[in-house]
Amino acid sequence: AKKAHTHSKPHLNIGTMGHVDHGKTTLTAAITKVLSERGGARYVPFERIDRAPEEALRGITINISHVEYETADRHYAHVDMPGHADYVKNMITGAAQLDGAILVVSALDGIMPQTREHVLLARRVGVEHVVVALNKADGADPELADLVELELRDLLAEHGYHDVPIVRVSGLRALQGDPEWEDSIEALLRAVDDHVPVPVRYVDAPFLLPVENVITVTGRGTVVTGAIERGTVKVGDTVQAVGLGDGVTAVVTGVETFGKTMERGEAGDNAALLLRGVRREQVRRGQVLAAPGSQQAHRRFTARVYLLTAAEGGRHTGVSGGYRPQFYLRTADVPGRIELGDGEVALPGDTVEVTVELGRPVAIEAGLGFAIREGGRTVGAGTVVAPLG
Ligand code: GDP
Ligand code: MG
Repeated sequence: AKKAHTHSKPHLNIGTMGHVDHGKTTLTAAITKVLSERGGARYVPFERIDRAPEEALRGITINISHVEYETADRHYAHVDMPGHADYVKNMITGAAQLDGAILVVSALDGIMPQTREHVLLARRVGVEHVVVALNKADGADPELADLVELELRDLLAEHGYHDVPIVRVSGLRALQGDPEWEDSIEALLRAVDDHVPVPVRYVDAPFLLPVENVITVTGRGTVVTGAIERGTVKVGDTVQAVGLGDGVTAVVTGVETFGKTMERGEAGDNAALLLRGVRREQVRRGQVLAAPGSQQAHRRFTARVYLLTAAEGGRHTGVSGGYRPQFYLRTADVPGRIELGDGEVALPGDTVEVTVELGRPVAIEAGLGFAIREGGRTVGAGTVVAPLG
């Protein structure tokens, strides 16, 4: 079973975002360097971060670099991505699930197109907390930096980010060992510690298990298997099957992992749950088992979708309203239909806001990632913005 790492300090997922060349990778390296000397980290040099290994996610090739470090209070996993397209893909597919983001803005250049786009993207995919690193402060005229700061506050407020700490830093100078600028990195991390709250951890959340398989064990009954996504489950708990039509509610009479009985299963465990009085055909792959009332099935939702380019294995031509691909949401695999604005065409490489109508209701919530496939290949990746109806 995939067991979550246990740390004595709370763990958070953060990452850098911002316009190309504003210093995201330099800052990431600087954080690990300063903390390797003053806190808890292993120094990861720029070259190691910038050459992120390629990873495949639902048929999409993405680039993402992970580093980790500790402040006095917390353990952080931090992601940095090489290019703008990687941000779009990683954030939309949920590969980068950020509890908070460090928006890197060069004080020399100010707000640039990708600065705007990343703020918009962060809001769309549910990143609730942003801290700004106003970088390259070593070379910037302070009054110009004040102006950039004002503009940034407007941009952030427009997207619902209020009281955002803006810390003037120099990733480059800190990396070169200048004590003044090393202090600026510490100040930035203090702002992250203070401003980004520890999210509700998965084990504390209501129980959720996407159903992978349903089997009948002679003499015992119906057994449902899958990886526990959130929460915990133990014998005696009531669970509800949600999605694909009417769902049963049942009492769990056994929890096992790889054939061994468990006192309780928790987020990250692969589990087999024995359900009392349930017939095999009453639970199906594609449903979720959830704490009663915690999940709702929907057929319609709004989403942000990235269409893969032909080079990424996606379509060669654009799609328009009425396009009917197959949707993969957790273990569900259902046909559906995409609605676009009148006469609107989405081209490979585009990121678009769409409304999706599924052929069957599925457990949906804001932030849920999904894949879009057609003829056996992935052509798009999306995130649910909001369920409808
Ligand atoms: P990224 O594309 O956002 O990851 O940017 P990089 O970290 O690759 O940095 C882009 C360029 O800006 C490089 O030449 C860096 O040396 C330079 N740079 C990064 N941080 C600073 C800084 O704090 N001050 C100055 N003067 N230059 C910086
Ligand atoms: Mg970079």
